Amino acid sequence: MQKIILVTGGNGYIGSWVVRELLENGYRVRVPVRSLAQTDKYKHMSNLPGSSNLLEFFEADLLVDGSFDNAAEGAHAIIHMASPFTLRFRNPLTDLVEPAVKGTRNVLNAASKSSTVKRVVFTSSVAAVHGDNIDMHELGLTEFTEDNFNKTSSLWHQPYSFSKVEAEREAWMIYKSQQKWNLVVINPALVMGPSLAKKSNSESLQIMNDLLSGKYRLGAPELFFGFVDVRDVAHAHVLAMENETLNGRFIIAERIASIMDLVKVINQNFPRQFKLPKMVAPKFLLYLVSWMFGLSPKFVARNIGFRIAYNTSRSRRVLGLLYTPLEKTITDMVNQFKSNR
Ligand code: NAP
Repeated sequence: MQKIILVTGGNGYIGSWVVRELLENGYRVRVPVRSLAQTDKYKHMSNLPGSSNLLEFFEADLLVDGSFDNAAEGAHAIIHMASPFTLRFRNPLTDLVEPAVKGTRNVLNAASKSSTVKRVVFTSSVAAVHGDNIDMHELGLTEFTEDNFNKTSSLWHQPYSFSKVEAEREAWMIYKSQQKWNLVVINPALVMGPSLAKKSNSESLQIMNDLLSGKYRLGAPELFFGFVDVRDVAHAHVLAMENETLNGRFIIAERIASIMDLVKVINQNFPRQFKLPKMVAPKFLLYLVSWMFGLSPKFVARNIGFRIAYNTSRSRRVLGLLYTPLEKTITDMVNQFKSNR
């Protein structure tokens, strides 16, 4: 009898790749969705090989207590990935932090209530490792490691990052209060690459869309991110779920690059096809126009121009992850955007 794996957020950008790999490996997969009536959010999954006999959908909401209990009973493992990843929100508390933290409580309590769950893989982020890029310099570090926790984000400054660190702390707290299941935490950098999901709100897709549609054509902010391929992030979750000796956190990033580094890759592979930025926008100018990009002056001050580094040796050595080069990730993603135009 195949093991059952519950994947919250399984219909999303990263989640759909996780579900695809689990189905390929012969697992039975349960995916909770907010409303079974909204078939446009999950109908893409019926194209996945194995979906007709191995995939089941449940109705559950991160904010509704107990709504994951039925889906958790009978599952061997839970991959808890559902959480809003958007910079377009009205209220940081109700739109970001509450779904992240209450959702974590709700899903992990369902794991504890079940008689079957042995393992939880929790999707955190490098946003739970650090807030602003300047943090690394202020802490006197040459790189961030799995020992670092974001201490500079709040409801008012970098609220998405705040939602991730609060949710991860909640996950560790609940884990320590029980003895039924083990916990592994995956901390991906900014995820890029093609999407199986058609209706995702993921900021990953928005960022690429903004870049290709000319939002930064007058100049790109000098922002450095860790980047990682969506298929590698999915594989990291499956490895973490399958290898029962693993525990702790894993930073997942192929390399650090700036927005202009992405532009270089796109220009080389798709010359003159998009309205891409030709230069880096000067920092002083960004203070004046930051509101146009949804950035606060404090964000500009603490992030623009500051390089970061992540130590990813644990993901390579312990998890055994082989990374896709950023060039392939970006080329595959842009090709998909082109074919959807
Ligand atoms: P996504 O496509 O928007 O996926 C988010 C998932 O969470 C969706 O399935 C969404 O369901 C679900 N969700 C959000 N609010 C919910 C609620 N109140 N109740 C039930 N489900 C809810 O974004 P993604 O990029 O794949 O992100 C997935 C996870 O990876 C998130 O935890 C994110 O923080 C983390 N992460 C992402 C990145 C990245 O660069 N993409 C990097 C690091 C970590 P609906 O379809 O109903 O909206």
